[in-house]
Amino acid sequence: MHNFNYHRASDVAGAAALLKDVDDGKLLAGGMTLLPTLKNRLAAPSDLIDLAGVSDLKGISIEGDEVVIRAMTPHAVVAASHEVATAIPALAALAGGIGDPAVRHRGTIGGSVANADPAADYPAAIVGLNATVVTNQRSIAADDFFLGLFETALRPGEIITSVRFKNPSRAHYLKFRHPASGYAVVGIMVAQYASGVRVAVTGAGPSVFRVSAMEAALDKSFTPKSIADIAVSADQLMGDIHCSAEYRAHIVKVYARRAVEALTA
Ligand SMILES: Cc1cc2nc3c(=O)[nH]c(=O)nc-3n(C[C@H](O)[C@H](O)[C@H](O)COP(=O)(O)OP(=O)(O)OC[C@H]3O[C@@H](n4cnc5c(N)ncnc54)[C@H](O)[C@@H]3O)c2cc1C
Repeated sequence: MHNFNYHRASDVAGAAALLKDVDDGKLLAGGMTLLPTLKNRLAAPSDLIDLAGVSDLKGISIEGDEVVIRAMTPHAVVAASHEVATAIPALAALAGGIGDPAVRHRGTIGGSVANADPAADYPAAIVGLNATVVTNQRSIAADDFFLGLFETALRPGEIITSVRFKNPSRAHYLKFRHPASGYAVVGIMVAQYASGVRVAVTGAGPSVFRVSAMEAALDKSFTPKSIADIAVSADQLMGDIHCSAEYRAHIVKVYARRAVEALTA
C-alpha cells in the first residue's frame, strides 16, 4: 500500500471541499473494494476522505411512493429494514444476498453504486426499480447512470448522497450466485409499474442492461409463457472462467422466466 493522508469528514460539504483541495483524493465508504485495491497497489490516491462520520449519509426513509436509502447505509441494514421489506421486498432480499455477513455489514449502497462492478447486485435494483441516484450536485436517472465497465455518470468530486427507489406494484430479484464471492454471475430484477415492466440484468454484460423485448412482451401479458421464447444474444455478454457468454445468455432467459413465475404463482 502506498502512503496517503487520512481525513474523516463530518458532513458532505466538508468532504466535497476536501476532495477539491487535495491532489488526488478518494472517498472511503465501507472500504470493501477500495482497501484491497490500495493494498494491491492498483490505486495510489494522495488522500482518503472517510465518510463514516457523516450522519446525514446514513439511514432509510419512505418519502411518498419512494424508498430513500442514504449512501452510507450498509447492505445488512437494507436487508433488515422493515420499511424496505414492506415497500419493496425484492430490494431487501437483494441486499440480504450480497456477499457474506462481513461484506454486508461494511459495504454500502453508495460505494457499490459508485464502483459499478459488472457483477454487483445493486445495479439491477437501480435500473430495474427505476431509481434516481442523488448526489451533492444533481439527480441522475437510473438509465443514465451506468455507462460501462466500472464506469458511471459521476463527475470528479461528485458524492452520492442517496438512492431513491420507486415502489413497484410487484418485483422479484433472482441471482445465479457465484459460489465463493456471492457476486452475480447473472442477476435479474423484474419489476412491474403502472408505466410498464422493467427487466434489468446484472453480471452478464460489462454493465447492467435492460431487455426491451421481454419488457414489451410482459407489458402485453405478464406471464412466464410470454417471455419463454425470448432469447438474449451472447454477442455483448461476458465469457470468463466461470462460464461462457452463451451460458450467461441462457441463464438470463431461464431466470427471467423464473422471476415472472415467482411473481405470478
Ligand atoms: C468478498 C466480497 C464479496 C462481495 N460480494 C458481493 C456480492 O455478492 N454482490 C455485490 O453487489 N457486491 C459484492 N461485494 C461488493 C461490496 O458489497 C461493496 O458494495 C463494494 O465493495 C463497495 O462498497 P463499499 O461501501 O465498501 O465502498 P468502498 O470500497 O469504500 O468504495 C468503492 C468506490 O466507491 C467510491 N465511493 C464510495 N462511496 C461513495 C459515495 N458516497 N459517492 C461517490 N463515490 C463513492 C470510492 O471512492 C471507491 O472508488 C463483495 C465484496 C467483497 C470484498
